[in-house]
Amino acid sequence: MSAATDSSVNGSAVTTGPIEGSAKAYAPTESGLQVPVRRIALTNGEHFDVYDTSGPYTDSDADIDVHNGLYPLRRGWSSEHRTQLEWARDGVVTPEMEFIAVREGVTAEFVRSEVASGRAVIPVSRKHPEAEPMIIGKNFLVKVNANLGNSAVTSSVEEEVEKMVWATRWGADTIMDLSTGKRIHETREWILRNSPVPVGTVPIYQALEKVDGEPEKLTWELYRDTIIEQCEQGVDYMTVHAGVLLRYVPLTAQRVTGIVSRGGSIMAAWCLAHHRESFLYTRFSELCEILRSYDVTFSLGDGLRPGSIADANDRAQFAELETLGELTHIARDHGVQVMIEGPGHVPMDKIKENVELEEKLCGEAPFYTLGPLATDIAPAYDHITSAIGAAEIARHGTAMLCYVTPKEHLGLPNRDDVKTGVITYKIAAHSADLAKGHPRAQERDDALSKARFEFRWIDQFNLSLDPDTARAYHDETLPAEPAKTAHFCSMCGPKFCSMRITQDIRAYAEEHGLSSVEAIEEGMREKSEEFSSRGGRVYLPVAE
Ligand code: SF4
Repeated sequence: MSAATDSSVNGSAVTTGPIEGSAKAYAPTESGLQVPVRRIALTNGEHFDVYDTSGPYTDSDADIDVHNGLYPLRRGWSSEHRTQLEWARDGVVTPEMEFIAVREGVTAEFVRSEVASGRAVIPVSRKHPEAEPMIIGKNFLVKVNANLGNSAVTSSVEEEVEKMVWATRWGADTIMDLSTGKRIHETREWILRNSPVPVGTVPIYQALEKVDGEPEKLTWELYRDTIIEQCEQGVDYMTVHAGVLLRYVPLTAQRVTGIVSRGGSIMAAWCLAHHRESFLYTRFSELCEILRSYDVTFSLGDGLRPGSIADANDRAQFAELETLGELTHIARDHGVQVMIEGPGHVPMDKIKENVELEEKLCGEAPFYTLGPLATDIAPAYDHITSAIGAAEIARHGTAMLCYVTPKEHLGLPNRDDVKTGVITYKIAAHSADLAKGHPRAQERDDALSKARFEFRWIDQFNLSLDPDTARAYHDETLPAEPAKTAHFCSMCGPKFCSMRITQDIRAYAEEHGLSSVEAIEEGMREKSEEFSSRGGRVYLPVAE
């Protein structure tokens, strides 16, 4: 049973309460900042702390009112209008960096140096003080983004706030509000004031709404005003498809799936209609100055990303990446933090090249990839096809993974799809953390493996990414309480439980003063004698 409850405030319900088997705790930094952790209580009297993205919603003591928004934790942390990149370059450790150091288990100086080099970004706008600081960079834990947002056809503002709470509950490190329907501004305001994690947007979507969906009517002035509107609200990072150049558009003509990025297709349509480079490219320096004044991070969009396996790593994709590299250096010169968005659909053998090229062209700016999907043949399972690619690309250095839900290519995800997508991507991210040797990653695996081997079922559930489902699957066949300490489950049954047999071998060895190998040999010898003494027959008559 989940510990979650619905906190209903003036008719707006969001999920509150700790995840089963855990409680919110806070780890202090040197200067006394309180860094949240999720503390899992174990049945052997120990506890295990894990990185916590869920904000106050999982704190039993928190007073949640979605109409008031979250407490503005970071208000007053930085009085001067400078970006995290500028502070880092000047050798200053900001409170955000101090907070992140405790969260990631590294030194504050390491955080500062990674930000100064541009290898990592801290995407927290000055206008979003409710957000808890986090970092995106290849030398930190791999992060997961969840996309939300109502479309023109379905879903309400309240539902989107709940999806944000729900996604962060299960581990989303950032969320992107991709609303395209009516009430875009209002939806974003609700999400921002209630979000404990950074919020990203694609401002061209809202700009397009303002010109009734006709890309050729977009202007720099209208786009600039939209950017400022969103910066004022507190958006932390923005996808800008400034790398879609006029001369790249024909490169997509022979593709199987053309241009699949919404932002990419809007800008391509604009370039063709006006027959000149887009205002995102020609006004990029002005854009940098606006983002710098709020410390909003660029997420340079891959408008020409491949939308199918056939189009992976083609000339259009890599031509745009070269331009994103050029823009990265311009943004950094303005003191603006930058990350780079990546594909898409890429077969396994072509994934590594994407990371290597991105790092080379974009000065190791954090790579932020959608999947990639490693095959196109499994609609309804694209959370899995993409998690395969995501684990691989993260292993090679991608810093943040944009989740994919089972509804990808099919419809707008509901609450269950959001959870499935987040958990699937936490698996991909954590697998990459393990492969990269992140110091804290294996500790959780070891704790769970130990609980599993010792048949501490409750600890095994609670240490898992999704305790509710792990418990439900176990209880489907063995619901009785004594089964929570039983030395088997219904998969192999009591007689064939290999872990119980291993434990028996170890107990036998201890009892007879033997090593495990000797004990196995001894046990085999006893069984062999027993077999011979019964006539050496493989099949025994039923009566025996
Ligand atoms: S019965 Fe099989 S699956 Fe279940 S705990 Fe034992 S070895 Fe593991």
